Amino acid sequence: MISEEEARRKILEVIRPLPERTVPLFGALDSFSRQDLVARLPMPGFDNSAMDGYAVVASSCRMGERLRVIGEQPAGVDRGIRISPGEAARIFTGAPMPVGADAVVMQEDITRDGDEIVLNVDVDAGDFVRRRGCDLAEGQKILSKGERIRAVTLALLASQGFSEVTTGGEVDVAIVSTGDELVKPGRKIKQGQIYESNSVLLQSLLQRCNATVRSVENCPDDQQSLSEALKRGIRYHVLIISGGVSVGEHDIVKSTLLSLGAKIDIWRVAIKPGKPFLFGHVAVPIAPSSRSSQRSAQSRSRGGREAPGQGSAASRNDCFIFGLPGNPVSGFVTFLQFVRPAVLKMMSASDGELDPTKVTAESDVDLHNDGERAHYVRGRFENGKFLTVGRQESHALFGLSQSNALLRLAPGDAVKKGAAVELQLWD
Ligand code: AMP
Ligand code: MG
Repeated sequence: MISEEEARRKILEVIRPLPERTVPLFGALDSFSRQDLVARLPMPGFDNSAMDGYAVVASSCRMGERLRVIGEQPAGVDRGIRISPGEAARIFTGAPMPVGADAVVMQEDITRDGDEIVLNVDVDAGDFVRRRGCDLAEGQKILSKGERIRAVTLALLASQGFSEVTTGGEVDVAIVSTGDELVKPGRKIKQGQIYESNSVLLQSLLQRCNATVRSVENCPDDQQSLSEALKRGIRYHVLIISGGVSVGEHDIVKSTLLSLGAKIDIWRVAIKPGKPFLFGHVAVPIAPSSRSSQRSAQSRSRGGREAPGQGSAASRNDCFIFGLPGNPVSGFVTFLQFVRPAVLKMMSASDGELDPTKVTAESDVDLHNDGERAHYVRGRFENGKFLTVGRQESHALFGLSQSNALLRLAPGDAVKKGAAVELQLWD
């Protein structure tokens, strides 16, 4: 058994980013940038009005003053209007400021009288003018390599005239859920059987990472079926196996992987829940036949995986294999701590993007970890406080479903009620 930290380090050491791709902006949401990008335009691009109103020369504008309206400046075209003290130009939000004007008076603050306006307020230079470059200067960094592309990032890129962005590659994933007891939701179950829920959890978590789930299979605990399912699964960049990685006679994932020529890099980690976690890799033997998989194959042949780090036995055509314990909470915790950062790294995420969002909270309970494994406590983060929810056992899916945060207690850690703790948030 190795420590959680060592397991994570070993995994991230062998995982390499997939080749980049250039995609239209809208297809890039939740991808990671492959480039540093700088502003190619200042924002705003020219001095313009923040209001519908009148452009004026502030020094000639006292409350009660009359100004002559000499023209109209709409948004979208520069009419080249010039104004002098005592004059005003009708102007609209976003319209370029006329030459000579240094302020805008809101239309609500004047009284119109034919060709003239009467000011109902005093005016200061700069009022309601958006200065060229005040939001963003040309050459200023707008996106860092490895940064997640969010909806607001896309808006910023569009405002700079970019129609495409270069991101990390698309990660294709297969999921195999193992267990003789598992039945697909929607069917009838017999005594002793349970509904299969892990693949739904994993698919959803992968969707949140913006990875692409290409295949989901349920598989009984027999070597033949499992071998066939795993052979299909290792055609993708990542294969996630649920269940069957523990030490019982029916836990045949490890032996079946070995029989397929896979190398097991990690088996059993000092993490609670999730001890039986397995990580390995295998060379991809056959080109996939489906169109989507051909894309994966192409990305591989284009150098889908760059050379692995020194000391790693993984090669560029490897499928990375994650064996998660079948207990739902164990699967969830090990996905979040090991699979998610690996998938994000394959997508070119920077190191800072690999962990779930962290927040500081006040613990509402006393907690301690007398064991030898890092313990992930499930609970709710609400109004700045952390409260445990439900049973803290690895099968307790209801408690997990009511929680939104994980608190990590390292071996020997103790937390007193009222103490500040750091949480991982996932929802
Ligand atoms: P295993 O890791 O295969 O020994 O499974 C541990 C526990 O998790 C058992 O109680 C299984 O019934 C349960 N389990 C395994 N796979 C799933 C699954 N896909 N969905 C829900 N529960 C599961
Ligand atoms: Mg099982």
